[in-house]
Amino acid sequence: MAPPDMLSPLSQAPLLPTGRPALRRLSSMTATEGIINAGGPVVVVPERLMHRRSKTHDPRGFAGALESARNELASMNLEEDGSPASLSESSPDTPGTPASPPEVPSADSFAFAFDIDGVLLRGGRPIPEAIEAMKVLNGENEYGMKIPYIFLTNGGGKTEAERCIDLSRQLDIEVSPAQFICGHTPMREMVEKYHTVLVVGGEGEKCREVAEGYGFRDVITPGDIIKDNEATTPFRRLTNEERKNSRKRDYGSTKIEAIFVFADSRDWAGDIQIMLDLAMSKGGYIGTLSETFDEGIPIYFSHSDIVWSAAHDNVRLGMGALRRMVEMLFKDLTKGKELETIAFGKPQIGTFEFATRLLQQWRKDEHHINRPPETVYFVGDTPESDIKGTNQFNEKAKNTWYSILVRTGVYQEGTEPAYKPMATVDTVLDAVRHGMEREFKKKKIGPKDNGGLPLNGSTFKNLSLSGEVNKPLTPEIVTTPDLV
Ligand SMILES: [Mg+2]
Repeated sequence: MAPPDMLSPLSQAPLLPTGRPALRRLSSMTATEGIINAGGPVVVVPERLMHRRSKTHDPRGFAGALESARNELASMNLEEDGSPASLSESSPDTPGTPASPPEVPSADSFAFAFDIDGVLLRGGRPIPEAIEAMKVLNGENEYGMKIPYIFLTNGGGKTEAERCIDLSRQLDIEVSPAQFICGHTPMREMVEKYHTVLVVGGEGEKCREVAEGYGFRDVITPGDIIKDNEATTPFRRLTNEERKNSRKRDYGSTKIEAIFVFADSRDWAGDIQIMLDLAMSKGGYIGTLSETFDEGIPIYFSHSDIVWSAAHDNVRLGMGALRRMVEMLFKDLTKGKELETIAFGKPQIGTFEFATRLLQQWRKDEHHINRPPETVYFVGDTPESDIKGTNQFNEKAKNTWYSILVRTGVYQEGTEPAYKPMATVDTVLDAVRHGMEREFKKKKIGPKDNGGLPLNGSTFKNLSLSGEVNKPLTPEIVTTPDLV
């Protein structure tokens, strides 16, 4: 039999009798994008946890495995067709091991959301305290509770599936695509609106693949345009690899309807040139030049962070800087016309609304909590996106969004943050401790072995930090229709 990633997508994902694919648990060491995209809900698991789970299997036997698999299956509803998952069947033949039941209860009144760069990772490597912080959230804490969390990064340039594999390896934790929003995730909601689009940024053909994966039907890259007419960018020559991958076509008769900047540009000069050519074109036809400069096409950026925290000691220019350059140059070239571009990502309110839906679905499916958290602790390193967005969203949200600024990224100690966080701490581990202590103090719950409220046994399992007792799980709870 051919390896799974050699098979065509969806053809080999085991299906439930209902026709829906079953959950697959994949090792972070062997998972590939091809295997993940083969269909169905997936969670990427560190190798050590794969072994532990496969040895212990599921103490509740098949019924327990079934219930967990159903829950994880339901967790994919947000990104799939929106229909509730079937709870009546599962496939014991699913590759990977069945999910084991939660061994510790989950805190229900609060949750965490994390920015990634400058908080958990820096230059692609984990910030040391991040690994410990994840352990604490996953139950290794004095209260013996798991705390639900999601990731909300402005970064991009890879599929959500690939980011999950990376993050699982880097932080040694289980990560599901259902926990993950990156800058360009909301762009998938625009596939019906535009047919032919220019996709800018990222390595090689990666962002074209991401866009096509989202469902965009006709995706053009700057390389395609340069291949068609090398005079487009006088100082940029395509490499042999780029020339091979780029798609030649008649651009004179091709109407590009919108530009999507999915990830950071690898060639600012060439990409800015092509974006401005289209912004000044007659309705998105390459090679045309508008006389009025108001016939251009919309430009979407997956975020607008001017700087970000990479491996270098000082912050590096980000996509927001490219955006500013395009807008300013358009004004210069058109003698004063304004170019309005659109940005997704933090601090846009829409991104936090998307995060709210994702978190609610994740808490319901993974932690069996079917109501919104009272408080969401957002941990970030960039005042202009993380803190500004969290504070603004807190103003309009029904629950509390509590901003925590860390000192491991963009924000530097000794400077005044442009947007004031509710707390400032050194590292993400301090942020997690701060949020937990604040919550448990509020609820007057003490550590397990410190004379506090007893947190074990059956009472422990159903304890609600809101002072209510959760009902035992029923299919109704885990199959509530999707949030919209
Ligand atoms: Mg950051």
